[in-house]
Amino acid sequence: MANFTRRKFIQAAGSVAAVSTLGFPAIVGAASKKVVVVGGGVGGGTAAKYIRMADPSIEVTLIEPNKTYYTCFLSNEVLSGHRKIETIMVNYKGLEKHGVKVVHDTVVDIDAAGKMVKTHGGKTFAYDRCVVAPGISFKDNIEGYDAAAMKAMPHAWKAGDQTRILRQQLEDMADGGVVAIAAPPNPFRCPPGPYERATQIAMYLQKHKPSSKVLILDSKDKFSKFGLFQQAFKRHFPNHIEWVAAKDGGKVTRVDAKTNTMYVGDTAHKVAVANVIPAQQAGAIAIKAGLTDDKGWCPIDGRTFESTMHKGVHVIGDASVAKPLPKSGYAANSEGKTAAAAIVALLNGEQPGDPSLVNTCYSIVGPNDAISVAMVYDLKEGKLSKVKGSGGLTPKDSSPEMRAREVEYAYSWFENIKNDSWG
Ligand SMILES: Cc1cc2nc3c(=O)[nH]c(=O)nc-3n(C[C@H](O)[C@H](O)[C@H](O)COP(=O)(O)OP(=O)(O)OC[C@H]3O[C@@H](n4cnc5c(N)ncnc54)[C@H](O)[C@@H]3O)c2cc1C
Repeated sequence: MANFTRRKFIQAAGSVAAVSTLGFPAIVGAASKKVVVVGGGVGGGTAAKYIRMADPSIEVTLIEPNKTYYTCFLSNEVLSGHRKIETIMVNYKGLEKHGVKVVHDTVVDIDAAGKMVKTHGGKTFAYDRCVVAPGISFKDNIEGYDAAAMKAMPHAWKAGDQTRILRQQLEDMADGGVVAIAAPPNPFRCPPGPYERATQIAMYLQKHKPSSKVLILDSKDKFSKFGLFQQAFKRHFPNHIEWVAAKDGGKVTRVDAKTNTMYVGDTAHKVAVANVIPAQQAGAIAIKAGLTDDKGWCPIDGRTFESTMHKGVHVIGDASVAKPLPKSGYAANSEGKTAAAAIVALLNGEQPGDPSLVNTCYSIVGPNDAISVAMVYDLKEGKLSKVKGSGGLTPKDSSPEMRAREVEYAYSWFENIKNDSWG
């Protein structure tokens, strides 16, 4: 639960409060319907924009620390050198054009009972409905992976500086070295991501450091699009990618950043570049606000994405428990729209309708070669469910032309999702 009370909040708000004609303290700028969105990633951006588009009488404030956001999607292409980091950068001007009030600050507390949000900068924001979309934070499942180790052995699982560090390390390494990826246990952000990353890095090594290879040390025995990835590894990188399942000694439990060594039990892997992706949980603010269950994720009502822990707070994106939807950008965008529609209905005294959600995840796994998984979801007996017969995987016997077309679809999807979420 939030550790500041409604009374304390009103005291704190005194500095920004005006006295109304009736003599009651009124929060400056009080409007009849207010939504505060915590986090300006793909989920938060989408929700903020779609609420404003559906009902411009609702005041929407989006709180996000960074002035620029780097998409994780296609960040693996930055690692391979196929794209510049500037191409995965978005800003908040598009949302402002929709009338979203963007505040660059960090939310440090959410008082669900008092319906208020407090920021690091000392501001407080009252809301009628709050959307929480803080993405992920990391668990301490790997001994020695502290703040210093994170710089030496970057996760690059939040795009931006971490992506830059990992790319630089790949450029700096000598030919003949091993690039090891420690893949996380389920559930985690972007289930196909570590394996697409392996193929992207292998493309770079094949061309620039041909005696080097990628070693995937996995905490799992299987992963998303398993058969399709195994095919792609063989098709393009028979000598450049090695995958080790957990049962065969893949589960990294400890690292030593000083010597760039990953340990699986007592077995040491001293490598040239170490990409360590720890186990994950909801973003720290969701945990602090008491929105998480014992596994560290936020349970929600699938119709509205309203938290089952705190009324009036909707959790979307990676932080939420939205199974069978994956923790993906496309799912976060779809959840943002679902929550937006529900919030607009609720604030106007109406019943939220039945949601329909969608996800497609493309993985670019070789030159002119991509694979995908797609699915539509709806609500059955109150639970988010896959719609039978919808979506599917790239067929295992797909032609090179078909897979080349999937690369074009991936790039087109990327432009569309950026525009839809922040444009
Ligand atoms: C390598 C990689 C590749 C990927 N590829 C794809 C892909 O091809 N397709 C796809 O659909 N998905 C992909 N994803 C997954 C996708 O990036 C995530 O699922 C998506 O970003 C989740 O959106 P979100 O809004 O929940 O969180 P985020 O996008 O992480 O946004 C969270 C935001 O909240 C802000 N925040 C956090 N705490 C606070 C706070 N206390 N106060 C204010 N703001 C806060 C953060 O600064 C951040 O901007 C990929 C991920 C990775 C790592």
